[in-house]
Amino acid sequence: MTAPRTQQDWQAMAAGLSIRTQAFIDGKYVDAASGKTFDCISPIDGRVLGQVADGQEEDINRAVAAARRSFEAGAWSNARPTHRKKVLLKFTQLIELHADELALLESLDMGKPVGDARSVDLGATIRCMGWTAEALDKVYGEVAATGPDELGLITREPLGVVGAIVPWNFPLLMASWKLAPALATGNSIVLKPSEKSPLTAIRLAEIAIEAGIPAGVLNVVPGFGKTAGEPLALHMDVDGLVFTGSTAVGKRLLQCAGLSNMKRAYMECGGKSPNIVFADAHDLGVAAKAAAGGIFYNQGEVCTAASRLLVERSIKDEFVARVVEAGKAMRPRHPLDPGAPMGAMVDEGQTQRVLDYIEKGKAEGARLALGGTRAEVEAGGCYIEPTVFDDVAHEHTISREEIFGPVLSVIGFDSEEEALRMANDSEYGLAAGVWTRDISRAHRVARKLRAGSVWVNYWDGGDMTAPFGGYKQSGNGRDKSLHAFDKYTEMKATWINLGS
Ligand code: NAD
Repeated sequence: MTAPRTQQDWQAMAAGLSIRTQAFIDGKYVDAASGKTFDCISPIDGRVLGQVADGQEEDINRAVAAARRSFEAGAWSNARPTHRKKVLLKFTQLIELHADELALLESLDMGKPVGDARSVDLGATIRCMGWTAEALDKVYGEVAATGPDELGLITREPLGVVGAIVPWNFPLLMASWKLAPALATGNSIVLKPSEKSPLTAIRLAEIAIEAGIPAGVLNVVPGFGKTAGEPLALHMDVDGLVFTGSTAVGKRLLQCAGLSNMKRAYMECGGKSPNIVFADAHDLGVAAKAAAGGIFYNQGEVCTAASRLLVERSIKDEFVARVVEAGKAMRPRHPLDPGAPMGAMVDEGQTQRVLDYIEKGKAEGARLALGGTRAEVEAGGCYIEPTVFDDVAHEHTISREEIFGPVLSVIGFDSEEEALRMANDSEYGLAAGVWTRDISRAHRVARKLRAGSVWVNYWDGGDMTAPFGGYKQSGNGRDKSLHAFDKYTEMKATWINLGS
């Protein structure tokens, strides 16, 4: 079939899709041990896409046992790096081959525009897998600085069984940020996707087998946080726990690691990222479009959403007017319309949560400059207008808490110090932006921002070549780049006595 180009093409493809809904354990699709399922509902129009296996403790136990067996058997954990590289490159090719199908599943399942799913989510997933595969046989150990009578070898070994718990906003991409380095370093994995977006992870498991990843190395158990996620986090035979999701759950998972076997635990959590625009920015038009894109892209369901716009007061009114214009052009459309700038919110619960924050913004006295209501795109769907609040106070709830929706808070400032103080006065520290023509100020502000990623004169730069992660309660550890390998390996020092 040729690549879908129009909404009708995508709709025709959706009509013919056969959707996998079972858990994938030890190389096979299986029902949950309890036989239970839950409805997978599309937020596009409320349609039930399928009944997904409701994995629980018994299923987690089976998956962990399969992962452990495969790890001990060594077909993957002890394979030569060149072999793992070859298989992971094949895996990358197969993901590329199935990219339209995976993008469509992502869009149907969580409501993002299919155009974005195809170009961004699949593009970045393919890049992540391919880059990591290429990198894996270029990582060496170290030799300690010693005297002539001994040799100190510093080597890295896979952790063993890794539990990965991922969110719904970029389901496949967030999973691949964990799977790629975990697989590259020889671990076996139990992946628990979000109950709101399990479909691409379930499909990916059989693609992994087709690529040559041995049975038991990649297991997928769909299910809910409390009943599938926690048993995985508390499991005594899981060596590493990697997570992307909210800060509240990340904190709970750190506790689970401590309450069980002190498994290595790395959390990528929420954000409330400040985007600081100084009056001397090069091009206010470009900055305003980026400010709108930074909060409305993916319906604002982005950990690095540019949710706090700090604007120098002398240009604030003009700048807000430009952001509002850019926001108007991003109104949600049907997610299978390939040109849709925004799609559906992930589900009714998240829609209500965001609408509640909008009410709170109004009640606390911010000025609604755009949106603020539900949008009617498709009957039964979950859509919200791009929303801009001006004259927000730093103390307002909408400027402090992560909304995870298309809601922008604009806050004025009068000096660099004031902007920095507000930017850094947050429990989060995931990302930040600064717009200025003054190179000294750009460096000075970038250095003082307490955030894992800082963007100067654009928003959302990044690549597999650089690490991604947060300061403070945005998390610990880093995804992407060679630094990600650290999370999936133990470091060993081996000392050899060279004396006679
Ligand atoms: P969430 O924390 O509600 O859920 C994430 C995952 O954790 C899901 O699979 C869920 O089932 C599971 N879970 C929930 N409760 C659990 C428990 N008690 N024990 C074990 N597992 C549990 O987050 P979400 O709503 O899916 O995603 C949105 C959040 O993710 C936002 O806060 C966003 O900022 C964050 N996020 C962060 C990054 C990053 O890289 N820092 C990237 C994307 C999303």
